[in-house]
Amino acid sequence: MVLNQSILTLKGVGAQVAAKLNRLQIYTLKDMIEHYPREYEDRRKITPISECVMNEHNNILAAIVSKPQITKKAGKIIVSFRVKDETGSIYIVFYGQAYMKNNFEVGEQYLFYGKIKHKYAKIEMESPEYEKVAVPNQIEQIAKITPIYNATYKLSQKVIRGLIEKSLDLCMPFIIDYLPQSIRKEYQLVDKKNAVMNIHFPQNSEAFFEARKRLVFEELFMLQLALYSLKSDFSKKTLGIAYKIPDTLSLFLDKLPYELTNAQKYVLNEIMEDMKNKMAMNRLVQGDVGSGKTVIAAIALFLALQNDHQAALMAPTEVLAIQHYEFLRELMLPFKIEVGLLTGSTTKKQKLEIIEGLRKEKIKLIIGTHALIEDHIEIPKLGLVITDEQHRFGVRQRLKLSEKGLTPDVIVMTATPIPRTLALILYGDMDISIINELPPGRQPIKTNAVDSAYHTRIYRFIEKEVLSGRQCYIICPMVEDNDTNSDLQNVLDYSEHLKTEIFPTLTIDYLHGKMKPKEKNEIMRRFAAGITHILVSTTVVEVGVNVPNATIMLIENAERFGLAQLHQLRGRVGRGTHKSYCILVSDSKNKVTKKRLKIMEETTDGFVIAETDLKLRGPGEFFGTKQHGLPEMKIANLYTDAKVLKEVQKCVKKILALDPDLESSENEILYDEIKQRLSKEELHHAL
Ligand code: ADP
Ligand code: MG
Repeated sequence: MVLNQSILTLKGVGAQVAAKLNRLQIYTLKDMIEHYPREYEDRRKITPISECVMNEHNNILAAIVSKPQITKKAGKIIVSFRVKDETGSIYIVFYGQAYMKNNFEVGEQYLFYGKIKHKYAKIEMESPEYEKVAVPNQIEQIAKITPIYNATYKLSQKVIRGLIEKSLDLCMPFIIDYLPQSIRKEYQLVDKKNAVMNIHFPQNSEAFFEARKRLVFEELFMLQLALYSLKSDFSKKTLGIAYKIPDTLSLFLDKLPYELTNAQKYVLNEIMEDMKNKMAMNRLVQGDVGSGKTVIAAIALFLALQNDHQAALMAPTEVLAIQHYEFLRELMLPFKIEVGLLTGSTTKKQKLEIIEGLRKEKIKLIIGTHALIEDHIEIPKLGLVITDEQHRFGVRQRLKLSEKGLTPDVIVMTATPIPRTLALILYGDMDISIINELPPGRQPIKTNAVDSAYHTRIYRFIEKEVLSGRQCYIICPMVEDNDTNSDLQNVLDYSEHLKTEIFPTLTIDYLHGKMKPKEKNEIMRRFAAGITHILVSTTVVEVGVNVPNATIMLIENAERFGLAQLHQLRGRVGRGTHKSYCILVSDSKNKVTKKRLKIMEETTDGFVIAETDLKLRGPGEFFGTKQHGLPEMKIANLYTDAKVLKEVQKCVKKILALDPDLESSENEILYDEIKQRLSKEELHHAL
């Protein structure tokens, strides 16, 4: 298949060029033609030299009037020559490219595109792009809307453009249109070949917009269809369990150490309505960090258990699972409900006991990590499944747990604020509840973005807080020193440095993902118990951990983290009644980075942060996709293409309603492609 051929089969691509293309994630001809332009320049308009705008890019059509000369300035080779049109003349200059001298002949006509500058008392165009114009009427073919691609070091636009042109020539006959004719017609989408051609080399702006619309539609369509086919019964509500609200509920609520916030009551009510209903619940509970989701989960679990069903709560990390286990065991104790814990470090013997207990319905509530979804674990009367911090799990894993019951109610909880568009893609089939209020008495977290010159002051501040009884997290991006990232802080060296040089009298521990589960648990236990003053860690503490006495979150190399991640990390403090602080240290001079860190200073609203992150980083960046386990978008922009997404979802639902298994002949191509995508490793993992 031509599309899957390696780029090495292209003329002009050797090992070196291939390596550079690989850095752009381009390996095959298909990758090449799906490397869509980042932007376009309208080079149809030719500017007379006398009207060129200084310090801007101009497009001129000019003849060479002087022989290219080589000179040297400050040790740098410069090739220059003069060109003119009817209105004037300028110099064309190339720096450090001696071979350019032999590329140009007096009398030849060229289209030059580049920035015009005033330099050394001359007007010159620096290192322009150029295209020879041999015959006068050839100009229309050369002066075009020109695509600009994401390039990489020493791979010029001209080279990429040439390779894409070649790939398009080879691939065009083999491009397959996945979208059935009827959909193309209904949504007025141009055909695939036309779209691919015009996205790279648009005939005019209208053709470009048509092409883009078509490709965005297709990209979102295929993703959505794949996701929906995975959750095969996405649209039908299935018959589930109609729970009764037990008399013991008020007793349970009375035992809680606090009163629920209004937002918690509201969401709890939505959940109880769903549970009473005979249809199976499928609900996403979104609540910012610290909004109190755990207790809502506890109440829902209690309801299911009092109805004589079993229930499961799955958490993404062992640390979090243990924390939930301790909290819930305590709450369930007065009601004589047996609670089990199952994680990666549960011993074989304990595990067998738990499996037996679950099978015999002796253990009613099971808390755990991924370990819960293993095949041999049976939960015969599973009536409610809750997944905490769901973004750490794939859809598949979540489904697998609920498949242990017949038609259990399902709640997934997340603190990751998901921009609306993404929520639509991922949870279009779920009802959504939002806890939009924090429990009372919380002190707002004060956030400061500073550079590393502030370290002395920061340490003095940490010392002050610790001496008044508080605790501190310090986050580093790396575990240990390594050659490629030696400029980044690492957990091992950092904690050693603190121990020996900064805080010799304080208790300092470190934590990272490479440690054994047992060690990690012990470290977390020490920190939660207040024994450790300072915990130096990687982002393993990012999700869910609750130590209300910790008041400082210091994040080193803050530029290395996504905003959503910084927000999660910050959420580890400000959980008690003491005033809390988040300090972001970064020496980055990058403008976007500075803006992103500034947002953190300005707001603690997770939704504002998520939307801003998506906007600042633009399409295809990892916040939008990778963090949620979705593949990167090639062309769709999850921020601006929300409208198309809505259309797509309607369309996908309609198709699946008419032909749930995509068996009709019209959907044959679609079926094959979806099947292939679902079987691919990458998507497999993502889903
Ligand atoms: P998250 O939503 O991030 O999972 P948690 O459930 O861990 O938040 O709750 C954060 C903290 O708030 C916990 O210490 C919890 O005991 C406390 N909390 C939860 N609900 C309330 C409430 N209604 N009033 C006071 N404190 C509460
Ligand atoms: Mg939580």
